Amino acid sequence: FCLSTQLSEADNIKVAVRVRPIFPHESEKGGTSVVQVNSNTTVKVVVPGPAGTTMQRDFAFHACLGPDVTQTDVLHLCGVPQLLDAALAGYNVTIFAYGQTGSGKTYTMSGREEVIRADSYTGDSHDGIMTRAIQHLFAAIAKKTDTKYALAASYLEIYNEGIYDLLNLKAKNLPVKWDATLGFFVPGLKQATCTKIDTMMDVIRTGMKHRHVGSHELNIESSRSHAIMTIFVHATPTDPSAADFGTPRIGKISFVDLAGSERLKDSKSEGAMLKETTNINKSLFVLGKVISALAERDSTGTSAHIPYRDSKLTKLLMDSLGGNALALMIACCSPASTAVEETLSTLSYATRAK
Ligand code: ADP
Ligand code: MG
Repeated sequence: FCLSTQLSEADNIKVAVRVRPIFPHESEKGGTSVVQVNSNTTVKVVVPGPAGTTMQRDFAFHACLGPDVTQTDVLHLCGVPQLLDAALAGYNVTIFAYGQTGSGKTYTMSGREEVIRADSYTGDSHDGIMTRAIQHLFAAIAKKTDTKYALAASYLEIYNEGIYDLLNLKAKNLPVKWDATLGFFVPGLKQATCTKIDTMMDVIRTGMKHRHVGSHELNIESSRSHAIMTIFVHATPTDPSAADFGTPRIGKISFVDLAGSERLKDSKSEGAMLKETTNINKSLFVLGKVISALAERDSTGTSAHIPYRDSKLTKLLMDSLGGNALALMIACCSPASTAVEETLSTLSYATRAK
């Protein structure tokens, strides 16, 4: 990412691919590994060809992470520290995880779900981007002598085009409103002031726990919902001799764990279930349109219509995509031959976002 005074437009959206290790249950069902990371920027998929032959398809992204890449390495390989520093400097930043259910989205963004939501959780080596980002932010802030920072966090879930506050289980089906200065926002959504790292870790833990509990209460699958944790940054320059003295900078970081991208082939999808499927696919579909319209605009310099208003997800992310914003999409894949159709569809979605 270019962080000189002017952002390089073409670099506003970066796309990374992360291929997780193959699981025993996939190998046991006869699955073999057909997705290979060839270099830091290319990935190869072996697909069945005509008459028992195989064919190879190659994809290129800003970063390609193979099964051996650790949770620690994900951050610098994807340029996350630079994004966080940009947010401290007043930019809006979004980090997404996209992919089919079980591909490693939650692992990449948060870590091991069942570990994080335990009351005794204080962090572990499998921690994902969010926890590590918080550590980076608080460490960076502690070093700044010329700026005072105030951080706050919110955590919400979008399910079936309804918005739920993951920090307040009683807040169900919240509206999205428009405000000329705030843009799209959710009135009444809890924003927790976080003066220390522990408070923000609590936000993650509470949110993960509520996402789990909430899905049980409503009898839904959490893989069908989008979760967005947002960190709000308010920076006040404190050096009276500096040119920016008295001008606060407002930045924002959104961590988005998207709903599973798999197409539901189940023919029993009718009624409520069908509406849900349509809404989930709609958000992902609109997000794809928004991102490719932005990528198109960046590469051609033309001003295309960006359909932010077509879904709740893109409304809420409007000020964090495009314009003065930076985004990173991490497309997560299983390497297994049994998942190759979904993997190809994930890789083409990710290609359109480049
Ligand atoms: P998703 O959120 O996309 O449905 P998860 O993140 O829950 O998928 O991953 C499914 C399972 O695989 C979880 O048990 C998770 O801990 C594990 N997993 C995912 N990615 C990795 C990885 N890179 N290394 C080790 N385990 C992983
Ligand atoms: Mg998940």
